[in-house]
Amino acid sequence: MVVVVDKNLPQEKVEKIISELNRNGFDVHKSTGEKYIILGALGVQPGFDIRKIKMLEGVIDVFRITEPYKLASRRFKAEKTIVKVNDIEIGGNEIVVIAGPCSVENENQIMKLAEIIKSLGAKILRGGAFKPRTSPYSFQGLGEEGLKLLRKAGDKFGLSVITEIIEPSHFELIEKYTDIFQVGSRNMYNYPLLRLLGASKKPVMLKRGMSATIDEWLMSAEYILAGGNPNVILCERGIRTFDTSLRNTFDLSAIVTAHEKSHLPVCADPSHAVGYRDKIIPMARAAVAAGTDALMVEVHHDPDNALSDGPQALLPDQFSELMIQIKEIAKVIGKKI
Ligand code: PEP
Ligand code: MN
Repeated sequence: MVVVVDKNLPQEKVEKIISELNRNGFDVHKSTGEKYIILGALGVQPGFDIRKIKMLEGVIDVFRITEPYKLASRRFKAEKTIVKVNDIEIGGNEIVVIAGPCSVENENQIMKLAEIIKSLGAKILRGGAFKPRTSPYSFQGLGEEGLKLLRKAGDKFGLSVITEIIEPSHFELIEKYTDIFQVGSRNMYNYPLLRLLGASKKPVMLKRGMSATIDEWLMSAEYILAGGNPNVILCERGIRTFDTSLRNTFDLSAIVTAHEKSHLPVCADPSHAVGYRDKIIPMARAAVAAGTDALMVEVHHDPDNALSDGPQALLPDQFSELMIQIKEIAKVIGKKI
């Protein structure tokens, strides 16, 4: 941390800042320039609240030089993390495609979709059983029945499965059925849930909150990592901005920024980001070109009658076209699908 102090500050007040830094566990290196006194506060303390120093008399500014997260940071671990899900590796040279409906609706639906996505090259089947809906009157998911059907479809077609956990009390139930826990956008700040998932052996896909900065997103990942679970996948799913043309704004640059700041693998979810099926293929191409490690898309054979997110579900033919196109894009950047 670097503390910039007014050079005209009386000596005893400068000493007061230094002793405050010492009291908080920092060693201080002082250098005096033409206009400012620069105090180098040495010692990495990810949880330190820099406002404690910013508010002291004579302090002009305080800059962090280490991130507030540690375990999620590239500085802490330079080599990329590969998250293993059964025989699948997320974060390696192969881009993993996750596909399926927004919600598990019935056996026929999930079986049909599992067969389609498997035949087109997806590795992981998605499907919500507990849905965090914006309206309490919307379909909330089939609950345990949905989990059973998702597992059954995954097992039948040789697909791993991912489903969302929305509250801590569902942990044991969902852990029985899923290969990956999904933490949705609305729960990125649910710290008790994150702590609980830190104690799990199963991988966690952490979606970015709709108004979360990248550092806040990585701080949430830190909760899971600090709990002892190293298998975290970040997922960019669009953020809220001033523009309302689409469902959200797909922050493609988050893929490169997350890779720069963190060693954790990144997944891109263009479905929730743009919200309309005709825009998913170009955005999926862009996410692959930007270096995503995994891609998650919603697919439905009868989206007009889907119980949630029908407008953004790709039809099977569109999903097939998407797979053909992203395979070509992957080659250009030395990856495969
Ligand atoms: C979902 O994946 O179905 C979902 C609810 O996503 P998000 O949390 O990104 O809105
Ligand atoms: Mn959805």
